[in-house]
Amino acid sequence: MITLTNLSRVFRTQDVETTALSNINLTVKQGEFVAIMGPSGCGKSTLLSILGMLDSPTSGSFEFLDDDISIYSEVKLAELRKSSIGFVFQSFNLIDELTVFENVELPLQYLKISKIERKQRVEAILKRVAIDHRSDHLPQQLSGGQQQRVAVARALVSNPKIILADEPTGNLDSKNGDEVMTMLRELNREGTTIIMVTHSEKEGNYADRLVRLLDGQVMVDKASQVSMPKDMTDEVA
Ligand code: ADP
Ligand code: MG
Repeated sequence: MITLTNLSRVFRTQDVETTALSNINLTVKQGEFVAIMGPSGCGKSTLLSILGMLDSPTSGSFEFLDDDISIYSEVKLAELRKSSIGFVFQSFNLIDELTVFENVELPLQYLKISKIERKQRVEAILKRVAIDHRSDHLPQQLSGGQQQRVAVARALVSNPKIILADEPTGNLDSKNGDEVMTMLRELNREGTTIIMVTHSEKEGNYADRLVRLLDGQVMVDKASQVSMPKDMTDEVA
């Protein structure tokens, strides 16, 4: 689904040059759940922005569904972003004045989907993240974990090819964080491809694969503990 080849991203401001990503080689297959980890400033958010087509590499290539995306126009990129990628942010980014239903409906309005179909799809997705009983509530009336579940529903409602999540539990306590992580893992088991940035080793183990960055480079790319068969885990222990 995604192939990054010798990808670098250098930021230039007046007299300072920062290499945020340096010669990244990474492949993500459909159905994978990948955790991106590493210390603050190592390039995690920059990588996610590039994967989400919100930023472009300074060199190297990014192939999405077998196409080199550097050939796409801004308009085509925006279309691809809306139809293929679901974003989940640390700060939920829900609209306070809109109900749960309306927040989740928004991406479908951008895609010019009919009102009848919007209603069906929003109801189905709210059920899938077990928040359908809060459909008419405003975000403020929900717990943090519930708000993030609404944000995940909004990310999923357009049937994206991939979910990109940047520290999705960063603003949640551990109970609400576990709830969101359990949901992401279930969605992945049902077929959604997920790339998630996290600080937490424990959360990294919800994924199948851990990619560790250091100073903009991939240091480790391996299966996570939980995705190993039971006997292999024993062997390691
Ligand atoms: P992380 O998410 O792992 O904390 P980032 O991807 O945000 O790291 O940042 C990686 C490096 O790139 C840091 O040194 C950061 O200061 C720098 N950086 C990120 N965005 C910009 C920008 N827009 N302009 C200049 N430097 C940036
Ligand atoms: Mg970051």
